[in-house]
Amino acid sequence: TSNNASNPSNPSASAAPESPAEIVARLRATFRTGRTAPLSWRTGQLRALRALLSEHGADLAEALHADLGKSRTEAYRSEIDFTLREIDHTLEHLTQWLRPEPVPVPASLGQASAWTVYDPLGVMLVIAPWNYPAQLLLAPMVGALASGNCVVVKPSELAPATSAILARLLPAFLDTEAVAVVEGAVPETTALLAERFDHIFYTGNGTVGRIVMTAAAQHLTPVTLELGGKSPAYVDRGIDVEAAAARLAAGKFQNAGQTCVAPDYVLADPQTAKALEGALTKAIEALYGDDPAHSPEYGRIINERHFDRLTALLGSGRTVVGGAHDRAAKYIAPTVLADVAPDAPVMREEIFGPVLPIIEVAGLDEAIRFINDRDKPLALYAFTDSQTTRERLASETSSGALGLGLPLAHLAVSDLPFGGVGESGMGSYHGRYSIETFSHRKAVLDKPLG
Ligand code: NAD
Repeated sequence: TSNNASNPSNPSASAAPESPAEIVARLRATFRTGRTAPLSWRTGQLRALRALLSEHGADLAEALHADLGKSRTEAYRSEIDFTLREIDHTLEHLTQWLRPEPVPVPASLGQASAWTVYDPLGVMLVIAPWNYPAQLLLAPMVGALASGNCVVVKPSELAPATSAILARLLPAFLDTEAVAVVEGAVPETTALLAERFDHIFYTGNGTVGRIVMTAAAQHLTPVTLELGGKSPAYVDRGIDVEAAAARLAAGKFQNAGQTCVAPDYVLADPQTAKALEGALTKAIEALYGDDPAHSPEYGRIINERHFDRLTALLGSGRTVVGGAHDRAAKYIAPTVLADVAPDAPVMREEIFGPVLPIIEVAGLDEAIRFINDRDKPLALYAFTDSQTTRERLASETSSGALGLGLPLAHLAVSDLPFGGVGESGMGSYHGRYSIETFSHRKAVLDKPLG
């Protein structure tokens, strides 16, 4: 466990590491002083986080490479610069977002006015996963701080280099009376979850999501659960298959497929499915050359357990391209599988790796049925030129997001809420939706006595 031990202003600097109870009590005491409420404190913290990312971007990129073989380009694009944009967007709009919102008052109340304000909630807990271990810890933190809260952040133990550097840097840049980093795995997280927080923000899988929600229920603590699942990609007949394949492959194989909103599988009619085989093969080569094992842009699987889980899925269909793997290097080639049965092992769980199955359906009706027969996905993607198809997918299916023509990119639109529905999660964040999540919207009514 690491919590600000190196910071001289920390009262516990020389003592034994603080327990979760002590950390929460200390942060709660800070919150009660009102220190985190002023806009100046919030923007100060966001600027400090900005400085951390600007000054130590290279160190973070190195840690991400150590944990996931993430290329420098990808580390900046999907983690460091991504978070910087979230900070800048928040700094630019925070004053406006926090403005009290007047609402009309019924005539029966006579001379009165009413409005809403955002109150900070208190002490937040953010639990992050390993796949985008910096972004998925820091972006929720931006919202927690911008909303005037104290926050405990728990990085993923499965990305140990990133966890260590965040535990070292965050206390050096941020207000250690209001922000604490707790490193650790299940025992440490379980101990944290026993404490009372005012909101818990969890990103990860649904099994642990249920553990988090159960623990939160003991204190009536609200939760945001950013989970995953199988996000389908529907490819319509008659479209530019090569253009669609290029975008599908880029979205799928980024971070070696270990992306919560990665297209999990493709749905297409037999003729389109056939055309996709060649187009995806070409797209993968354009991205990573003829041997992705030697491409600096291609990532690695997080650990042996996930490597073994993924290689066991490679037999679920006919290998169109890829299939090569090397356990010592935790390498699995970008792989496309065809002739995959709807109940094949690769279709029974979220893949979360570089394996893309193509499932044949007769057409749009069957695709919609296929999607609705399964858990509500975090994202649904479609490549189509047809307005009717777009409208039918939008109105006849439910998913966290609908991405038309470009996977993953909705995350980069700061004014869109990011979150799931049903098995893919509850609640959302990014931009002003983070303020909604990490604040209480308080109702105010004012009727003068006169
Ligand atoms: P993980 O194993 O790193 O777990 C996430 C966090 O939960 C970690 O901090 C871990 O320490 C903690 N944890 C694990 N077991 C726990 C337990 N028993 N009790 C308390 N805490 C525990 O990450 P993961 O779950 O393997 O992440 C992959 C999943 O996350 C996928 O399903 C993916 O789709 C999803 N995901 C969702 C999003 C999103 O934004 N919606 C983003 C990334 C990943």
